Amino acid sequence: MIVRVLFSLLTLGLFLACCQSHETSDKKETAYIFYLDSVLNSQANYLRKYSIDSLLCDGFDYPVGNPDGKGPYNSLLDGKKYDSWQVTVPFAINYSLGIHPGEDWGGTGPSDSDLGQPVYSIAKGVVMDARDYYSPWGNIVTIRHLYKTSSKIDTVLSVYIHLKDVFVKINDVVNRRDTIGTIGDGGAYRPHLHFEIRKGVMHDFMTDFWPSSYDKDKKWVLQHYESPSKFIKKHREIFN
Ligand SMILES: [Zn+2]
Repeated sequence: MIVRVLFSLLTLGLFLACCQSHETSDKKETAYIFYLDSVLNSQANYLRKYSIDSLLCDGFDYPVGNPDGKGPYNSLLDGKKYDSWQVTVPFAINYSLGIHPGEDWGGTGPSDSDLGQPVYSIAKGVVMDARDYYSPWGNIVTIRHLYKTSSKIDTVLSVYIHLKDVFVKINDVVNRRDTIGTIGDGGAYRPHLHFEIRKGVMHDFMTDFWPSSYDKDKKWVLQHYESPSKFIKKHREIFN
């Protein structure tokens, strides 16, 4: 702990010195902020192998169906073709399990018809977690994304829950639309994808964190999570 605090102070000092040196390009500075951020992260050594530019997203797509979160699918259960995809439980509603910190996505066919359908990475990113959290969670994949805003480089975590299959592992760099897994049921529900976009401030939170289990209210959820569809819609194309 003491070592970590000392190291943080040292890196903060270096960072401030870095900020004062005006020869430092913006690019170098953002790289350094990313470095600082990642030293607090267990994957620091791995992430440092990548330049910040090579990890920047060029936009976000929806996690199921076509890039727009629509389009038909052929059910693996009955072989029939169904029309499209939909959000069955919206973001931030208060329902039987508390405040819903994400969106539930499913096919428009019968409720089991989407079992085993592909789930895609919404953007380029680094896999932070990919393992079985057991019922009712099932397999969870978390991907960290870096993206440019008008003033800085920001980060969000996309979280894909109740997956049946997982095709990625921790530290993989994935691209937009890579198939990372398939829709499952977590051993507890009808098949669906519970999908969250967590704000960067949440990168130290447990993968299976559920706000209502820690008495977090709706205001807290809105401060710590993005509304998934709203966020994706706003960031379809990012020009780096
Ligand atoms: Zn859900």
